[in-house]
Amino acid sequence: MTGTVTNWAGNITYAAKELHRPPTLDALRSLVADSARVRVLGSGHSFNEIAEPGPEGMLLSLDALPPEIDVDTAARTVRVSGGVRYAELARHVHAHGLALANMASLPHISVAGSVATGTHGSGVGNPPLAAAVREVDLVTGDGTTVTVARGEERFGGAVTSLGALGAVTALTLDLQPSYDVEQYVFTELPLSGIDFETVMAAAYSVSLFTDWREPGFRQVWVKRRTDQPLPAFPWAAPATQALHPVPGMPAVNCTEQFGVPGPWHERLPHFRAEFTPSSGAELQSEYLMPRSYAVDVLHALDAIRTVMAPVLQTCEVRTIAADQQWLSPAYGRDSMAVHFTWVEDMAAVLPVVRRVEEALEAFDARPHWGKVSAMPAAVVRERYPRLGDFRVLARTLDPSGTFANAFVRDILAA
Ligand SMILES: Cc1cc2nc3c(=O)[nH]c(=O)nc-3n(C[C@H](O)[C@H](O)[C@H](O)COP(=O)(O)OP(=O)(O)OC[C@H]3O[C@@H](n4cnc5c(N)ncnc54)[C@H](O)[C@@H]3O)c2cc1C
Repeated sequence: MTGTVTNWAGNITYAAKELHRPPTLDALRSLVADSARVRVLGSGHSFNEIAEPGPEGMLLSLDALPPEIDVDTAARTVRVSGGVRYAELARHVHAHGLALANMASLPHISVAGSVATGTHGSGVGNPPLAAAVREVDLVTGDGTTVTVARGEERFGGAVTSLGALGAVTALTLDLQPSYDVEQYVFTELPLSGIDFETVMAAAYSVSLFTDWREPGFRQVWVKRRTDQPLPAFPWAAPATQALHPVPGMPAVNCTEQFGVPGPWHERLPHFRAEFTPSSGAELQSEYLMPRSYAVDVLHALDAIRTVMAPVLQTCEVRTIAADQQWLSPAYGRDSMAVHFTWVEDMAAVLPVVRRVEEALEAFDARPHWGKVSAMPAAVVRERYPRLGDFRVLARTLDPSGTFANAFVRDILAA
């Protein structure tokens, strides 16, 4: 495919003018082996230059490879090829009576691209989506395949890898028996006096939304597994109509509410696979902090709400259980995440992003790898205790730096 290649949001136009879409694994291997610089583009839902190969580099899409979704019902695992998206994976897995532990707010994103950036959903007991990965196949710079499996020391760097180790051509994921989920939406949860831990632990997945125009939260989305107790939610009033988390957007784009039970993959994401997720005209930022700081973080943001509100569509607060991927923003710490859906105007948004980062300075915030941030790489680097191990792994698996780009080199200082 030739012509301009952009990300989903349209705020990044890749310098590489061509998107190569190899039809076979052998074609992919040859392309990689013959190229000095390569980056793989997943579904393009990141908001920054993480996938940018640079003007001399090659941008590869795996979406023309034969899609593989191979469920092993006895082992409760699924092997997926590098271009597969969660929507397709989830439908397939559900048809086999099985399920993933969690999903992000949208099913439109590719599995490989999501786990590469530490993408997560919500839930005090739910780690990022990468925690489901048990094995990863990488086509490295010389065109050979390396398989890295859970249990190996280097596995800690192999999944949330920012695309820096090779082209992920297959992933094997853990599954569990299928389950149903009911989704309830509540309105107007006060910030003052919030018992954050109890509110966020009220159900399997809980998200708080606010536009910061007033203190407190406009909406609370509560997702209960039907095999778990019915949540008491006395802190806010049940919504009287179906809602979209972005004010003014149609609720039809969202997954079913009012406690109607349905399959896990049609309730855990906020947005339906057949509709545009979120507002569709936006930029996003997100920061993960230790969960013990949550109430102080929320008050620090409340103090700058008049700065944020003019450029904010919605802000979502979630919880994420710690994981063990070295570059995961939830690495080694049970986390709370604050996500911002900004207006689609980088010049207006960037100064506000800086103000948010100042407000979060005391809280050891780690920015989402796929979203807009102004945090200097040197600061980000200090927040990852195993970054040095990742650097060594990158040098070992990708000695010629085929999969390094400016974004990755900046973070790794390599
Ligand atoms: C509307 C919207 C809602 C979102 N909601 C959430 C959310 O709920 N939670 C959350 O955490 N994030 C969320 N995100 C962010 C999103 O999940 C991440 O940006 C994620 O990386 C998107 O996956 P992708 O396939 O589009 O990745 P891309 O943006 O295409 O790529 C991301 C990185 O992965 C690498 N990569 C992709 N595929 C491969 C491969 N096969 N091999 C090697 N490297 C690869 C790329 O090189 C790049 O470095 C949201 C984004 C949008 C647009």
